[in-house]
Amino acid sequence: MSQVSFDNYTRSGDVAVIAICVVMIILLTTSYVSRTRSFRIFMSIIVQLVCAAMVNISYHTLLMAQNPIYHPLIYVQRILYHALLLDVLFLFTLYTTVVSGLEHRKARVVAVISSVLLIGIIIIDIVLTSTGMGFRIGRDGTVLHRTNLFLIGYTLFIIVLVVLMNRARKLLYRRVMYGFYGTMAVSLIVRFTQVALNQSSLTTMTFVFPVIAMMYIMHSNPYNVTLGSVDIHAMEDMVRNMYARKAAFVYLSILLPEYDEEGKELPPEVRAVIRRFTGDYFRSSVLFQVDNGHMVLIAPKRRNPDYERRFENILKGFDKQYARFHIPYKIVIGESMEEISRKNEYVSLIKSIQKGMPENAVHRTCQEDIDRFNRSEYILRELTDIYNKRDLDDPRVLAFCQPVYNLQTGRFDTAEALMRLRLDETGLVYPDQFIPLAENYGFIHVLTEIILHKTCREIKRLTDERFQISRISVNVSVLELKDDAFCGDINRIIGDNRVSGDKIAIELTESRSEADFMLMKEKIEELRGRGIKFYLDDFGTGYSNMERIMELPFDIIKFDRSLVIASGADRRSEKIVENLAHLFRDMEYSVLYEGVEDDGDEERCREMSASYLQGYKYSRPVPIERLREYLPKAG
Ligand code: C2E
Ligand code: CA
Ligand code: CA
Repeated sequence: MSQVSFDNYTRSGDVAVIAICVVMIILLTTSYVSRTRSFRIFMSIIVQLVCAAMVNISYHTLLMAQNPIYHPLIYVQRILYHALLLDVLFLFTLYTTVVSGLEHRKARVVAVISSVLLIGIIIIDIVLTSTGMGFRIGRDGTVLHRTNLFLIGYTLFIIVLVVLMNRARKLLYRRVMYGFYGTMAVSLIVRFTQVALNQSSLTTMTFVFPVIAMMYIMHSNPYNVTLGSVDIHAMEDMVRNMYARKAAFVYLSILLPEYDEEGKELPPEVRAVIRRFTGDYFRSSVLFQVDNGHMVLIAPKRRNPDYERRFENILKGFDKQYARFHIPYKIVIGESMEEISRKNEYVSLIKSIQKGMPENAVHRTCQEDIDRFNRSEYILRELTDIYNKRDLDDPRVLAFCQPVYNLQTGRFDTAEALMRLRLDETGLVYPDQFIPLAENYGFIHVLTEIILHKTCREIKRLTDERFQISRISVNVSVLELKDDAFCGDINRIIGDNRVSGDKIAIELTESRSEADFMLMKEKIEELRGRGIKFYLDDFGTGYSNMERIMELPFDIIKFDRSLVIASGADRRSEKIVENLAHLFRDMEYSVLYEGVEDDGDEERCREMSASYLQGYKYSRPVPIERLREYLPKAG
């Protein structure tokens, strides 16, 4: 039997609990927090702690009044206080099962055990109290209790929690678990210290420590406080939420390409403008930061029925800011659409639109964009499948071929292999629609293998039938050279088709990077040993470093069509192209002009040290089986 005197409790502990909880509620309602199930449990824990603290203050106040009138109320409040705290422990267990994503069946077992524990103890407490066997106020006003039921319940719940957290350990990030273990330990130490000191002021407070840990670890503020934006996961979360509630919204995406790189940061003045934009034009809008220079504003339509006018205003406001900063931009605006919301694909959709639009433009998403986007998603799925199957005979990958005219022999005796896809839902797909995708997703090498295989197979057929074909060139991306298996793969495919290496050429484009240059040099040297020839593709587009080019053992330099066009535009350009071609020829490279479309082009190229000509004037790319129509036959 223990006795409770009045001087072992002061209200400050519970007052502090109420204050801390109110501060937490303020913080949580002013920051962007995902409204998940765990968050709702978390919020009810905070609210219950406030109630518990208030009940405890009231309980002690009445107790100290030493007036028998209050006794029934004191009994009720004491039971209520303990019930609230035990319920908080119950919610802790529930919370742990939810955030750890514990298996449904196990979670139910935990829920049942905890509920039985909670309800059982509350009932026993009521029974003991009403029969005078538990807590009792003596005649002299002092408090007596025979069994400290609450402490028993508390201990049992802690055991359940420890077991549960031990289970959850494997499901949660380890550091997060350390955070929770640490705060639990602090709570227990405080709790037992106050028991040892015969104190009770901090009981409610010991429940607040884990709550602070939960807030910090699980529901921390994802805002970028200088920009007022939230990250992309929060955006997906919001879209999912709005879709579930069938709530329509509008979006405005701003891309500042100059800042859309790793490590780049928006200047403070620009941040200030964007921060203001977030609040000034739409009601209840949220700004999401997708990448360093890419932000998306989302606003519910219900709160902004006049969104068309708001769009106009925000764009006007943006124009003013552009006049100030002159930072290039791309803006995409649009309204939520069922099919995009369902798959939560706004970011990919917006990115695909941005890719195809000019700078300093505003684009409104339309059905055509969605169709194009769906098409490209479909192509990506097919590419993924092609990549996974790695079937060199995959019928979806077609080898087309463009014959190349040899000025020295006056015949078509070489050709370039060009890839196409033929897919069920789209028909023929051209390289501009799938090569960048394949490169981004790492599928390009498998495509090259298929084209090389199909090209070798056709070369074998042609030579078997005594057609004269010197070689066919295949395009290879510099990315592919990074794989150590590259040379082995090329050798294997050529060997398996029993074709001699000198029937194959590889076209590479120049790269700015020093590492790529070294890689090219290494691979070219290795494969040249097998007789494979190398072409430098797209010479004259963008960056051309003559010194670097001369260091690589190319056989043919392919002058891009832009040079053919330039040479026809004015005398000065013609002179430059002519001199470049001349220089290469002197260095014993052959020059091939690409994109020769008419007699004028051909005439100029002949004058400008050409060895080979390729272009629509001679033939468009045709299916590789039709190449024979252009080739001479031996004998
Ligand atoms: P490229 O290697 O520069 O290929 C030449 C492109 O110019 C081809 O477009 C061809 O159809 C086109 N062309 C040919 N003659 C003329 C002409 O007289 N006038 C004009 N305006 N264009 C002409 P295509 O087949 O659409 O290929 C585009 C690009 O796709 C290729 O440019 C190449 O970079 C890439 N590509 C094509 N096939 C493959 C491949 O198997 N692997 C890789 N990695 N890239 C490929
Ligand atoms: Ca090429
Ligand atoms: Ca080219």
